[in-house]
Order: sequence, then structure tokens, then C-alpha cells
Amino acid sequence: MALMSVEEALRRVAGPTEALAEEWVPVSAAAGRVLARDLIANRSQPPADMSAMDGYAVRAADIVDTPARLAVIGESAAGRPFTGAVGRGECVRIFTGAVLPAGADTVVIQENTTREGAVMTTTAPTAARRNVRKAGCDFAKGAPGLAAGHRITARGMMLAAAMDHARVPVARRPRVALLQTGDELVMPGEGSGADAEIVVSNAFGLAAIARGAGAEVIDLGVVGDDLSVIRAAIRRAVDEGADVLVSSGGASVGDHDLMAPALKAEQVDLEVHKIALRPGKPLMFGRRGALRVLGLPGNPVSSQVCGLLFLTPLLRALQGETGPAYRTLPARLGCAMPANDWRMDFMRARLAADGAGGLLATPLPVQDSSLLSVLASADALLIRPADAPAAEAGAPCEVIPFQD
Ligand code: AMP
Ligand code: MG
Repeated sequence: MALMSVEEALRRVAGPTEALAEEWVPVSAAAGRVLARDLIANRSQPPADMSAMDGYAVRAADIVDTPARLAVIGESAAGRPFTGAVGRGECVRIFTGAVLPAGADTVVIQENTTREGAVMTTTAPTAARRNVRKAGCDFAKGAPGLAAGHRITARGMMLAAAMDHARVPVARRPRVALLQTGDELVMPGEGSGADAEIVVSNAFGLAAIARGAGAEVIDLGVVGDDLSVIRAAIRRAVDEGADVLVSSGGASVGDHDLMAPALKAEQVDLEVHKIALRPGKPLMFGRRGALRVLGLPGNPVSSQVCGLLFLTPLLRALQGETGPAYRTLPARLGCAMPANDWRMDFMRARLAADGAGGLLATPLPVQDSSLLSVLASADALLIRPADAPAAEAGAPCEVIPFQD
């Protein structure tokens, strides 16, 4: 039986969906949130013609012939404009960010002037309208600033603030419940040292992914391989108001892999179960009402790669964020690769400069999905499409660079 392709699974997990409700947050808290509506400029920037330099506001017509001597009739500083007008033969002392006085159209920089009492002399010619920032040259009142679906960066937050938005409408944070399943699991520092114990690592990587995508995390802790206990944990996710439940472990077909039966017993409709992916073939996705469930394999590399490939795009979609599911960069293979099989492969790889302005991606020698040491030392995932033919070193490829 052909398994579902990664593309199709992505469509089902993170296809277009109705975004979570909007909420208004102070602009200071907006970084990392996704805009729920377009933000337009509430005012123009700069609000008036303003000086870009320290110097003198003049009429260009008065300095056509240099040296030119002009009478200084006042001062315009940032926040303290000159209220009069500049007439023929006159100028106003002006500073960066000050409103250009009426009548003036040009600023002569201080370095090109001399001053004696109330007389300014400029010897160097200055082109008309130099050193003036025109009203609205950054943005005009009513102009589109940031579009709905934009994840607000530090820079976007600055723009929103400058456009005079004290609060901004964003999608509420998705609530992500994390569940670790496995009889062998213990939390770091809490084990007895027995050989059969495995220390939980997946929870930390998945929590970081969820928070990085703007979510709040609900920690459901660790449960054993027990159907009724797993079922109770699924109900807890619903009770806690989770939008997404992410489970780790028990996703495969062994006698102790109970996630699929538990989800079915709790009326979670599995739309995806097993995909043509390496690592992460047993991945599950289903819904119960508004709750989405992502059932990830327990192998740490699989859980983290599936988190990047599916949880991040799902959380983006829930917040109405526009853009591709994941961002790839073009690179070239650092070594020859054998033909790939029917599973799309996301290989742990190192990145290096190729000496010609591009990237060279070299897969790490061991790709087993249990190897956290390899994952932690990788820079990127190197994508090998399903059924890709053998490729020579230097052949083009795509990578997903790790962002953290
Ligand atoms: P499973 O998917 O339950 O068959 O687990 C596959 C492998 O991943 C086993 O070796 C587990 O011990 C390991 N594993 C499962 N869950 C976690 C976890 N939360 N953190 C670290 N390793 C895990
Ligand atoms: Mg298990």
C-alpha cells in the first residue's frame, strides 16, 4: 500500500483553516504574534517636511550665488518648531528632526556655513530641497503598513508603533498540550539510574517549537503505555482547552504502541496515519471537534523533525499566518548521494560556504532517528525527495536550515 505523501499530509495537517479568534495586545507585546487585520498608518511619517541635518533652513533661490549672506531670524528644533516664515534673504537655525519653517525649502548643513551674530554665510552651493525629508516620505496616513497574516518582527513592531498603534489585533496564542508516552520514560534528574530507563528529551524540543511558533504550552507530563491512562490524558487536553495535542511515543504498530487505539477510543478522527517520510513514518494527525491531535513517533529525531515539518505549519495556519509551510534554501550536495527510496528524507546535514556564494550541504554519516548527538550537531535538514535518483557531489538540493 502506498503511504500518504508528505505533501498530502501537510495539506491535511496545516492546510488553510479558520484562524483562532483575534485579541488586542499592546504593541510592546506584539513581537512574534500574527496580525489578525491589516494595519494602516494612523498618521504620516514624517508628519511635515523636516530637516535631515543640523544647519540652516533657507530658500533655495537665496543661495543660487555663493557666498550668500542671510539674516538668522529664529530657530527650529525637534519638537519646537519656528512659528514664523522665512522671507527673502532670511534663514532659520534648524536641527535634525525639526519642522522646516514656512517659506524655506532647503537645508544648508552647518559644516558649510559660518556665523557672525545674526548673519549666516554659506560659501558652498547646496542644491534646492537638499537635506529635507518630505512629509509622508516614510509612510502616508492611511497607507497600508503591515498586512493581516504577517508575523510581527521587532522591525514590524517598530513600524506599528511609528504608525501610532498603541495596541494591535493579533490571533490569540494557540494552546498546545504536550504528552510524553512510554513506560521507560523519566524526567531529567528524576530517574533511578536503571538501564531500562530513558530520559525524556522530546518534550523540550517540542515545547521550544511550539513557543517559537507563538503557542502557549500545557505540559501533560509523562504517562505509561496504558490505554486507560493515555485516554485520560487525551481528555485532560480537551478539559484544559488545548487547540492542539501533541503526543510523543507509541505511534507505531508494536504491542505497546497505544496512541492510535487511544485516539480512536476518544473519538479522534485520524485523517493521517503513516506517511512516506523519514524520519517519522508513523506520524498521526486527527481531529476531535476543534481539537487537533498530532501523534509523533517517540524517537527523538523523528519527534523533532516532525515537529518542525508539521507542528510549526499547523500553528502558523491556526494563527492565520501567510507563507510556505517551511522555508527552504537552495544548496549543493557536499558529497555524492545514492538513489532515494519511496520515503521523502529529511537528513541531518552540515552547511558550509561553497566558495562561490552558495551553500554546500553534507549529510552527517549516521542518520539513525534515535541519535540526538547527531541532531544537535546538524545545521540543517537536507531534503531528498521520494524516489530521487542518485546524485553527484555538487548537484543542486534544498535544505531547511535550523533557525535556533
Ligand atoms: P516509541 O515511538 O514509543 O516506540 O518510542 C521510540 C523510541 O523513542 C524509544 O526508544 C523510546 O524510548 C524513545 N522515546 C519515546 N518517547 C521519548 C521522549 N519523550 N523522549 C525521549 N525519547 C523518547
Ligand atoms: Mg513507546
